[in-house]
Amino acid sequence: MYTAIGYAAQSATTPLAPVKFERRSPRPDDVAIEILYCGVCHSDIHQARNEWGIAVYPLMPGHEIVGKVTAVGASVTQHKVGDLVGVGCMVDSCRSCEACQANLEQYCLEGPTMTYATPDRVDGSNTMGGYSDSIVVSEHFVVRIPEKLPLASAAPILCAGITTYSPLKHYGVKAGDKVGILGMGGLGHMGIKFAKAMGAEVTLFTRSASKAEEARRQGADHVIVSTDDAQMQAAAGHFDFLLDTIPVQHDLNPYLDTLRFDGVHILVGLIEPVEPPVHAAKLVLGRRVLAGSLIGGIAETQEVLDFCAEHNITCDIEMLDIRQINEAYARMIAGDVKYRFVIDMATLKI
Ligand SMILES: [Zn+2]
Ligand SMILES: [Zn+2]
Repeated sequence: MYTAIGYAAQSATTPLAPVKFERRSPRPDDVAIEILYCGVCHSDIHQARNEWGIAVYPLMPGHEIVGKVTAVGASVTQHKVGDLVGVGCMVDSCRSCEACQANLEQYCLEGPTMTYATPDRVDGSNTMGGYSDSIVVSEHFVVRIPEKLPLASAAPILCAGITTYSPLKHYGVKAGDKVGILGMGGLGHMGIKFAKAMGAEVTLFTRSASKAEEARRQGADHVIVSTDDAQMQAAAGHFDFLLDTIPVQHDLNPYLDTLRFDGVHILVGLIEPVEPPVHAAKLVLGRRVLAGSLIGGIAETQEVLDFCAEHNITCDIEMLDIRQINEAYARMIAGDVKYRFVIDMATLKI
């Protein structure tokens, strides 16, 4: 064991504050990482405030981690001291179930061990995330950061990036497909870049016409203002895929009308009952699919990082001093960030 430092919440109602805590010494298959940057995801806020009812305190968020390897266990073969590496949303899984065998650890039938607030599979300790100076993770769950990628803006690829890339790949988005992206936050702006890089014709759905110019700057070909019924109706039967990144309740029915027959509406931002209900006729009459998708497996997380390096894709970020983390949360809730805060861990001192 050794003493690490970081920022954690002690309860659902207390702000994040500096703490010292124990990290394990590397096991034979572990990689010890000095964290250089960590992205700030909306899940971090939900968990710190126990909005999903599954928080364990102290809760140290952070699952968009990039850093440098400082030590490796005796059996590690994939990484060596000095390598630039990343850790995303998961740090372990059962590794033997059908999902794990298919490189889909995020759907592990026993449940993956998440990067924070989950019991470690070996010693039962509460996992502590990336708002910290270091982390120790089994090598299978550590990915390589391609040299070409700027480190800080690569961090959000580990959650926001893989979350949007994985479903576009899974459903086979290809050149010429018409893809609609719902919402342009941390996830949505990455969705635009990926769909565009896959050759699709990309449309952003947004509630505010003021985002049109910015959407085009991100690579969108078209913009539909979703509150304008005439624009929505004009798009009836148009899209092959909708990537829905909206994290709050919204009526799916008007969007389903914009899908072609066999079109797929993919939810990645919502984990609540859909309200108002989906009218089944909108699915049945056009053989349309309403789908969901969760992050991506470890192999695919490596794939998206390599894809980003190849296509010069990074996340648009605002660098954050960790001492401003609570203010950053308030700004994220107000939608006031373009598009991801990334903590510069050089600002972490206790
Ligand atoms: Zn996340
Ligand atoms: Zn499994």
